[in-house]
Amino acid sequence: VPGVQDVRIAMTTERKSIRIIAVASGKGGVGKSTLSANLAVALKRLGFSVGIVDADIYGPSQARLMNSEDKKPQAQDKRLIPVDSPAGIPMLSMAHLVEPGKALAWRGPMAGNALSQLIDADWGETEILIVDMPPGTGDVQLSMVQKHKPAGAVIVSTPQDLALIDARRAISLFEQTQVPIIGLVENMAGYSCPHCGEISDPFGTGGAEAAAAQLGMAFLGRIPLAIDIRLKSDAGDPPAAGEDASGQAFHAVADQVAR
Ligand code: ADP
Repeated sequence: VPGVQDVRIAMTTERKSIRIIAVASGKGGVGKSTLSANLAVALKRLGFSVGIVDADIYGPSQARLMNSEDKKPQAQDKRLIPVDSPAGIPMLSMAHLVEPGKALAWRGPMAGNALSQLIDADWGETEILIVDMPPGTGDVQLSMVQKHKPAGAVIVSTPQDLALIDARRAISLFEQTQVPIIGLVENMAGYSCPHCGEISDPFGTGGAEAAAAQLGMAFLGRIPLAIDIRLKSDAGDPPAAGEDASGQAFHAVADQVAR
């Protein structure tokens, strides 16, 4: 018969806490979902046990990115059990719960409740939960951050977006709620030629790093605008699973996030 001490130890080890990393952007279309999926894959390569929550309730794309669209989550004791993806990453998205193609017309509180169910699911041994946030800085975002207290946030921006107010709004959402900002990732930075691999910089270079420094945050790296990133993402085969230039760009960001 185990002593009280042993039971207590067993209980504390069982309740391993999960670190939520929120991936956010000031607006849609900047590659937040693409980065979330590939960051998860790259962190898993580094040996972490990683899960993904697609909190982009109104435009979920993680099921497609991670090739798990046909999966349906089970529930046990009123908690959802995440589905598995071919990359070996457990995940949950609204796309797993609603009929494909059906538009969600929920008000804020309902969306917030649905999101809590995804985050409060039975994540088992998962250490890091990557949460692909809805774009922008509305009520759903604010209540998610307040209720689930991410350990940190990664901000995604494109070079053109940096000068605009959008990324700054996303940053201030986390500052207001005392969530540490891990840093800024510049996506679609430079164009990688599919023929020769040469990177050209239609928007110049160094702007994101300078903006990050000005905002007092770490710069986590740049992901080139590359056709293979879009093609692989559309095919549900995250480029971070491979070793080519695109994969390596995501690995470099994951190295920074893991530090
Ligand atoms: P968001 O989540 O910010 O709305 P997505 O991750 O869905 O943005 O990306 C929007 C589109 O841009 C998708 O078609 C995606 O495949 C493409 N995309 C994202 N990042 C890159 C990149 N670095 N190179 C090429 N295409 C990209």
